[in-house]
Amino acid sequence: MKKEFKAESKQLLELMINSIYSNKEIFLRELISNASDAIDKRKFLALKNKELEIVDPSIKIEVDKKARTISLIDTGVGMNEQELEEYLGTIAHSGSKEFMQALENNSVEVIGQFGVGFYSSFIVSDKVEVYSKKYNEAPYHWVSEGISDYEIAKSTSNQEIGTRIILHLKKGKDYDVFLEENELEKLVKKYSDYIKYPILMNKEIKVYDTDEDGNEVHDKYTITNELQTINSQEAIWKRPKNKVKAEEYDNFYMSHFHDWQKPLKTIYRKAEGTLNYEMLLFIPSHRGFDFFSPTYQEQMDLYSKSVFIESNCDYLISYPFRFIKGIVDSEDLSLNISREMLQQDKNVTKLAKAIESRIKSELLKMQKDQREDYNKFYDEFGQQLVYGIYDNYGVKKELLQDLIMFKSSKTKEYLTLKEYVTNNSDASEILYVAGKDISVIDKLPVMEQIISNEKEVLYFLNDVDEFAIGILNEYEGKTFKNIASADYEDESSKEDIASKSKANEDLLSQLKEVLKDEVSDVVLTSRLKSNPVYLASKDGLSIEMEKTLAQMPDNMGMKATKVLEINPDHELFKAMNKLYDSNKDDLNDYAKLLYNQALLIEGLPIENPVEYSSLLTKLMIKASNK
Ligand code: ADP
Repeated sequence: MKKEFKAESKQLLELMINSIYSNKEIFLRELISNASDAIDKRKFLALKNKELEIVDPSIKIEVDKKARTISLIDTGVGMNEQELEEYLGTIAHSGSKEFMQALENNSVEVIGQFGVGFYSSFIVSDKVEVYSKKYNEAPYHWVSEGISDYEIAKSTSNQEIGTRIILHLKKGKDYDVFLEENELEKLVKKYSDYIKYPILMNKEIKVYDTDEDGNEVHDKYTITNELQTINSQEAIWKRPKNKVKAEEYDNFYMSHFHDWQKPLKTIYRKAEGTLNYEMLLFIPSHRGFDFFSPTYQEQMDLYSKSVFIESNCDYLISYPFRFIKGIVDSEDLSLNISREMLQQDKNVTKLAKAIESRIKSELLKMQKDQREDYNKFYDEFGQQLVYGIYDNYGVKKELLQDLIMFKSSKTKEYLTLKEYVTNNSDASEILYVAGKDISVIDKLPVMEQIISNEKEVLYFLNDVDEFAIGILNEYEGKTFKNIASADYEDESSKEDIASKSKANEDLLSQLKEVLKDEVSDVVLTSRLKSNPVYLASKDGLSIEMEKTLAQMPDNMGMKATKVLEINPDHELFKAMNKLYDSNKDDLNDYAKLLYNQALLIEGLPIENPVEYSSLLTKLMIKASNK
């Protein structure tokens, strides 16, 4: 029966075939990597079921020049009908929605963020067949001629457990190279050399005749075809670091984790002693489309003595560092236990701790010595570190406080908290301002004074920043101060404001009365320059936090306590003073208009737009009649 690919899969296939045309060769490493994973899985199952044991695990490459096919045959777990359907019938099944959004950007990188491994076979093939058999199940045959549909049927072939993938190569010179054994061997060496199972291929070899003394006779030989292992098979993390080239690590990362970009950083560590392990960790150079989605899965693989145990081991990586991808191999683990028991194994806990502290020290080193890389890293994953502080009531705040950064109002560059404190050693507080966008924040009325006084403020540009800082509470004894809050006031002008407030007591209490349902107080402030009015928040919840909470489904209508701050030196305030004596009704209208203006400046919705608009209209008509 013919089945259609899901719509987004079709689109992805088309896009992929067209855009990674110049990088066609990667199909081989993707298929070999899948085959190796499949053998890993089978070996793991064989720990509990002897019948699954593999005598000669291998990945075989067969070339048929006449038929223009390459076959990849593995002795892995195989797939049953339902798995063929699920795994090969949908691309990017984990995040179709995010995928469709990302697809609109139409970039090659987009594709790299999806598990498209198997589909890369369509870059070079116009038809792909898969024969597969699982333990205790019938063999099935999957076939597809490209982007429209595929078929699955029971197979009549007499097949061992495992998978055979047959690529029918497209016609043309560009594809002919993949029929050359030498070319394939080069590709295997380049991308898949470390694969720990033998990759076998039939290669022509010359067998020389020998003379009576057993010496080869140079011009007499016969050519035979022999199955040969073409990869060195050494798990890359078992090799000493100084024997592995950076490029080899990069290739391993890209092939093992299906990433199309090199990692930003490779971390290798071998430990011997009470706990023996090798860890090979990578900081990706970009975050995948689904990194912040609930479906994101940690990519940590656990091995013991090069034998694969389990992938996606979230228990090996602490939440703030879940962007790390890597492999941990330790011989000190009990293997024949359930996943639940494994997670509680005290050596597993120790491993997780070791990984955590290694990542932290590597990140600190990068922050110090390779700042540009660290900034790049921070653009991709910094927000996760801040989440990490907020998560779980701040249990990881000590771990993370020196890793987080915010952009400075002075340089617009990232600063660590330590750098801020050093730059501003005489300040008693760490000043910050929250908002979505630096250019919008810089235009806020409260920023005017900050900029003209050349004070340094940290921009909190992500929703989570203020919440996390609330958990952090202080850094090196300095507390955090939101410059938009009502109690942030310049010390030097305190007296001046107190006397002006006294002089305008009646007017202020009139305004307070009109706005008593909207704000908790109306006060004069010294911090406004060209703007007449500003809405500040008081105690706890800030206005930015109110906006964030408003987007959540169960926000319970939490609101910031607001204070309307007025600039006593502004012409408008003087005009209001006059009105106080001459026309109280107009003054009340002014108060409401001012409040609504303050809401607009803050990016908050106007509560009663109809009233606001009619007040404004009234005022406009009045002005034109003068
Ligand atoms: P990824 O490998 O990134 O998950 P693929 O599209 O390459 O994405 O493969 C999808 C799934 O199909 C794999 O996760 C695996 O479960 C299954 N699969 C692919 N190739 C094989 C194979 N040779 N043997 C068994 N299962 C396979």
